[in-house]
Amino acid sequence: MGYLRTIVLGSAAGGGFPQWNCRCPVCQLAWSGDQRVKPRTQASLAISANGGEWLLINASPDLPEQLRRSPALHPRSGTRGSPIKTILLTGAEIDQVTGLLSLREREPFMLCASAATHALIRTNSVFDVLAPDVVERQTIDLDQPYPLPGGLVAELFAVPGKVPLYLEGENPETLSETAGTVGAEIRSDGARLVYIPGAAAITPRMRTRLQRADVVFFDGTLFGTTR
Ligand SMILES: [Zn+2]
Repeated sequence: MGYLRTIVLGSAAGGGFPQWNCRCPVCQLAWSGDQRVKPRTQASLAISANGGEWLLINASPDLPEQLRRSPALHPRSGTRGSPIKTILLTGAEIDQVTGLLSLREREPFMLCASAATHALIRTNSVFDVLAPDVVERQTIDLDQPYPLPGGLVAELFAVPGKVPLYLEGENPETLSETAGTVGAEIRSDGARLVYIPGAAAITPRMRTRLQRADVVFFDGTLFGTTR
């Protein structure tokens, strides 16, 4: 049986907690330093099977701060380098991708995502700072095992979610399964972790996958409609 080491880099929704412009009752507790609440950065996970090569799931705008406080992810040797070998995106929301811009120092890594997510990123030329000759884009087909550095295997699967907020029109298709929102199952030698972001519902297929996981990270999404 293999094992997976996981660092929860952040666990807050988009905007983090407290959110910069929010004075809701819960954010007010955080602003006042109340010990009952803990400020949190935006959701991201680091996963490794061997402790030396790491996979990040999503790159939030808080990524630089998250890396500074995670010794396992610091550069280890030479004058340049990083134990982060792969970034796997589960969507193209602002809080899932903007941390990529902080990884622009010509450091090689693999950028993995569904074809739909890669297509969204390609529409924004600011991400061209991750030069294609340095950062290798890999498209992962849904429901197919995909080998990653460090002895990991990733499998992406559709999750009922919504398109990124900045693409949302009047009627977000929240309940449709699109390749824009995917869950990720990460495996190593029999150990299984499932990460599900922004799920608007749980389907029977998701339930089957969750049943065989050793660890589940699940993020439901809240949504409302205005008429
Ligand atoms: Zn708030």
